[in-house]
Formats: sequence, structure tokens, C-alpha cells
Amino acid sequence: MPKIGVLALQGDFREHLASLQRLGQETLAVRTPEDLAAVDALVIPGGESSVIDRLSRNYSLAEPIKQLIADGMPAYGSCAGMIMLADRIENPAVSSAGAVQQSFGGIDMTVRRNAFGRQVDSFEYQLDFLGKNLEAVFIRAPEAVQVGPDVQVISTVPAEGDGEQGRIVAVRQGNLLATSFHPEVTGSTAIHEFFIQLTRGDA
Ligand code: GLN
Repeated sequence: MPKIGVLALQGDFREHLASLQRLGQETLAVRTPEDLAAVDALVIPGGESSVIDRLSRNYSLAEPIKQLIADGMPAYGSCAGMIMLADRIENPAVSSAGAVQQSFGGIDMTVRRNAFGRQVDSFEYQLDFLGKNLEAVFIRAPEAVQVGPDVQVISTVPAEGDGEQGRIVAVRQGNLLATSFHPEVTGSTAIHEFFIQLTRGDA
């Protein structure tokens, strides 16, 4: 059985570990390059993407993660993790020293951080995920504002204006999966089940 790591530098990695373990999945909290080398797939949790970015570079994890993603390692990012998997961040955080937030990349998309933030900081929405109905929790969530031709749009939430296309909140590109929302904070296991299948080559 492939071992799934959860990047455990910041954010709600404990909830992801618990969700995967409830499904009988073998897991590892990833904090070092050695941990990373011991896993077959990686979950990047929700939290604060600029902090995950900074810590992953400080702990010498960013480069090996980018390399493993380029080599085809399955990865799933929720919320801040979705931002980390995006090739482009529309509105990256900039530190007081002028350092611009970076991502690992892998999914050919542009994300807008805190895209739903102004009107409502957090909301729930019943959405369709590959034919399954699930309650999605959005907390200062990003949106994919542009996706490349190889990106499969899995879920959207309605846009405000009539006739507009839905706003993209779940995508897949090959072995990479990303959601704006947090399945790890609800009881729903559909997304983790799907990711486990993906790591086994069954999705
Ligand atoms: N807004 C956060 C960020 O930019 C993501 C929020 C979350 O993961 N709940 O990283």
C-alpha cells in the first residue's frame, strides 16, 4: 500500500492525517527531506500558504517537493495547499523585506488567494465532486481564476452574475489534485478516498 505523507510544517495537517488514518491509510507527518523520501504521495494542508512556502524553503523541503512533483508523485493540496500546487499566484504575499511568496507549482493554473474573502470570510456550500454530493467548507479560500488545457475542472460554485461560468474550486491535472475547500474539517471522506485511489493508480 503506498504511504501517504502530510506536509506537517504549519496548518491543519493533523486533520488530514486523521482523515486518512480513518480510511485505513498508512501515513507519515513530513517535516524533513528524509520523511519526504519515505512517502509515495503528499498532502499539503490548509493553513497559510506564505508560511508553508517560507518554512518549506527553510527546511530544505521545497526543492525536493518540486522535483518529486515533476517526477509524477501524486499530491493533493487543500486551500493553502491548492495555492502551493499552482504554477501561478495572482496576488502573492510580499514580506516587509520584499520577498515574494512562491509555490511548488505543478498544476497549470493561476490562483487568487482569499478570493472569497471580502464578502464572507468563510462559508459552506453543497457541491458536486465527481458525482458525489458533499458539504464543502471554505475558509479564506482561493479560487482558480485561469486553468490550462490539461487541467480538469472537477467542482465549481455559482458565480454571482447571471450567465457567468461557475468559480473553480476543485481541479485535477494528472496525479495532482487541489481543492479550495477543506474536506479534512468535515466528516466527508470522499476527497481523501479519491486521493487514495489516485495514489494507487485507480483514479
Ligand atoms: N488564505 C490562506 C492562504 O493564502 C489559505 C486559507 C486556508 O488554507 N484556509 O494561504
